[in-house]
Amino acid sequence: MPIARVALDVPLAMLFDYRVDDAVPDDIGRRAIVPFAGAAKVGLILDIAAATDLDPGKLKAAEAVLRDMPALPADWLALCEFCARYYQYPLGQVIGFALPPLLRRGKLPKRRTARRGDGDIEIREPKTLNADQEACLAAIAAADGFQVFLLHGVTGSGKTEVYLRSIENVLAAGGQALMLVPEIALTPQLEARVSERFHGAHVVSAHSGVADAARASGFLDGLEGRADIVLGTRLSVFMPLPRLKLIVADEEHDASFKQQDGLRYSARDVAVFRAKQLGIPIVLGSATPSLETFHHAKSGRYRMLELPNRATAQALPKVRTVDTRKEKLQDGLSAILLAALADRLERGEQSLVFLNRRGYAPVLACPACGWISHCRRCSANLVLHLADKRLRCHHCGLEASIPRACPDCGNLDLHPFGRGTQRLESTLSERLPTARILRIDRDSASTPKKWQALLATIHTGGADILIGTQMMAKGHDFPRLTLVGVVGADAALFAADFRAPERLFAQLMQVGGRSGRADLPGEVLIQTEYPEHPIYRALAGHDYAAFATAQLEERHAAGFPPFSFQALLRAEAKTMERSLSFLAEAREKAEASAGEHVLLYDPVPMRLSRLMNLERAQLLVESASRPALQEFLTAWIEVLRGLKTGHGLRWHLDVDPLEF
Ligand code: ADP
Ligand code: ZN
Ligand code: ZN
Repeated sequence: MPIARVALDVPLAMLFDYRVDDAVPDDIGRRAIVPFAGAAKVGLILDIAAATDLDPGKLKAAEAVLRDMPALPADWLALCEFCARYYQYPLGQVIGFALPPLLRRGKLPKRRTARRGDGDIEIREPKTLNADQEACLAAIAAADGFQVFLLHGVTGSGKTEVYLRSIENVLAAGGQALMLVPEIALTPQLEARVSERFHGAHVVSAHSGVADAARASGFLDGLEGRADIVLGTRLSVFMPLPRLKLIVADEEHDASFKQQDGLRYSARDVAVFRAKQLGIPIVLGSATPSLETFHHAKSGRYRMLELPNRATAQALPKVRTVDTRKEKLQDGLSAILLAALADRLERGEQSLVFLNRRGYAPVLACPACGWISHCRRCSANLVLHLADKRLRCHHCGLEASIPRACPDCGNLDLHPFGRGTQRLESTLSERLPTARILRIDRDSASTPKKWQALLATIHTGGADILIGTQMMAKGHDFPRLTLVGVVGADAALFAADFRAPERLFAQLMQVGGRSGRADLPGEVLIQTEYPEHPIYRALAGHDYAAFATAQLEERHAAGFPPFSFQALLRAEAKTMERSLSFLAEAREKAEASAGEHVLLYDPVPMRLSRLMNLERAQLLVESASRPALQEFLTAWIEVLRGLKTGHGLRWHLDVDPLEF
């Protein structure tokens, strides 16, 4: 009597056995409908066995095996198993996450893509590569099996051209290519570029904005070998591709490759595993690689490929600091920056003022008694949004109306403190009344449609000055943009998170790269009180390597990643006491098995200690050895799963955490 071992999308780290009388070995990787806890559930068959440890009398029969689509192949199952092991997450839930929702529910998309004819891809308007690009392309083409490349090149250096040519090689050899990008917002532009280049190729896009049916049929296009190129955000790393021959991860340093809930995986790291598993090359591209990747490239584990110059003739933007200890600021703006903006306005060129803080002001305060607008659910301030006259928590979404008077002392004269994009917008429209100003942040671009409309306005020249948050930093080409002003960046210099400098550098490099993309030279002005800070000096010199090398030295001295490996156990409960006591117990239970290679820190409240009425704490685990950490975590998670929680306590483990 054959037994199917089924992975179910339930929070239990085990497989479930069911009787399947007509099961065949080919059913491994197929979906099955099985009875579970009184209901029918769809699971995935991972094994067909002859016997079970269960009492045969209690063994239930599967209701059906779904043979209406090809089985998920062994390498796909192995990829899910790797994620379950590495991220200490139940395998059934990994599979549940990796499968498109429609397929997970046991359904199939109504319409399926027709098979495309073979060999009908036409390459349209390829660029003639420059010598540096040729060298990179040749190195990638010469890869024999698994090899990780770091393609390091400034914005506009022609990395994408190298990706496209490498993909071309792969398609010509009958393979499939997977290209990962960090942002859903970036995919339409790239999609257009890829589809134009590879005329007649079947390009599948995979990101959270794709509707259920399309996502499922894209998945089947991959699985059944019809897709030539898959272009997508992090979840596309789980696309089954039987002839996958190349993976590209663009902007590999981007934090959005790491999922911050559920399965807390890094798509970049999973992609590297996948390339290794399949014995194929992977290209990680960036102007500001993550220090982890840069370190691997320096130490020879990865192969470094460099594009030191912009592909077209124009020079890199001139980066200058404006010393705000000497230059008086008026409403947050220096005379130098204002003059530069006025100058661009006169010449009919575009400017961008980068301020990574949305809203009007970060807080509303009472100067008489010291009251400040505070979220009652979080340990955070309510941000003043004058555009729609609300106070809003950026962490939990709580909204309140703006009080007429101080709730504590009745003072009528409440003051906004600090500056956000809305306030900058009103200041600039006072100072430069003829300028057409466009604010681009998550409030003004709250839907993809609004975002596309804003982009269209910028492209058609309908705006002179853009005010933008990090939304504006990425990937967009604005030919008439020649000036980038950076304001309010200093705060990030002194953030407690050891990754803050790395993020700031990447962000400013990226936003600076927006200027001077076409035939007009670009300029970047950074307002700062610390013009001598190494970050700003490295930016002015366009010297990523100097910055990264100095950062790596600091990390080495402090024993931070990439010189150590970390995991965080986080807990949240109604009271901080409960969260901390859970972590203390988890720590106590771990001490025996931790050994000398794994260091357990003390449980501490998280920086944002209260979120949505829950008190949050964390426990850091660290080791200089990845295998030692993995071995420890694998044992520890079993212990954790056995601990009593109760009182609404929830916990999770984050392996390779990015946020602290
Ligand atoms: P990156 O991905 O590094 O930002 P891109 O590949 O997008 O750079 O190239 C930047 C710009 O330069 C694009 O407009 C691209 O068409 C152009 N470009 C890239 N390589 C070449 C080349 N070899 N010859 C001419 N133009 C090129
Ligand atoms: Zn008051
Ligand atoms: Zn809140």
